[in-house]
Amino acid sequence: MVNIDGISDEQIAFIVREHTRVQQQLFRARSADLPATLTFRQWIAILEQHQGLCAFCKKKPFEAMEHLLPVYIGGGTTAENCVPTCQSCNSRKSRSTARMNVETSTYELTFEPPTKPEVESLFVPLDQAAELLGCSLDALTKRVQRGKIVTHQLGGKGKHLILKSDLIGLLAQSRPAEEHQST
Ligand SMILES: [Zn+2]
Repeated sequence: MVNIDGISDEQIAFIVREHTRVQQQLFRARSADLPATLTFRQWIAILEQHQGLCAFCKKKPFEAMEHLLPVYIGGGTTAENCVPTCQSCNSRKSRSTARMNVETSTYELTFEPPTKPEVESLFVPLDQAAELLGCSLDALTKRVQRGKIVTHQLGGKGKHLILKSDLIGLLAQSRPAEEHQST
């Protein structure tokens, strides 16, 4: 049992609100067939990392959860893709993408909606992915259908794409043999 005697009403309201926020965003990603792995603890850690402020302006208190890569182009609700924002930065970003500038460790918005080549640079066609993994397209497709790998279709052309980050994960899984050699 958790002793809640020492927790203020405000803290309880905060926990309930943020828990609900995470659940809603997980549901949103899951409904779009996207990765939905953000845990409540991860979200609280992200908020602490940003000191409860908006990740973009770093001035106003956060009011919303922002997906750096928007949900509509395949950005899931994951610890890597979610940051806190204030309402005005949130609406300014809208359907744009945002990325972390590693040199200044600030988040930058790209105010234009991402262009098609930009979106495509995040994805790899499934046949190319199969080639890189050294398996057949059939085998990879079956794995996609069975497992957690999400594919995306752009522009209704029927071309299946997987996120580069997912492919990197698969590549890491597919070559464990050398790393387990004893020295
Ligand atoms: Zn802001």
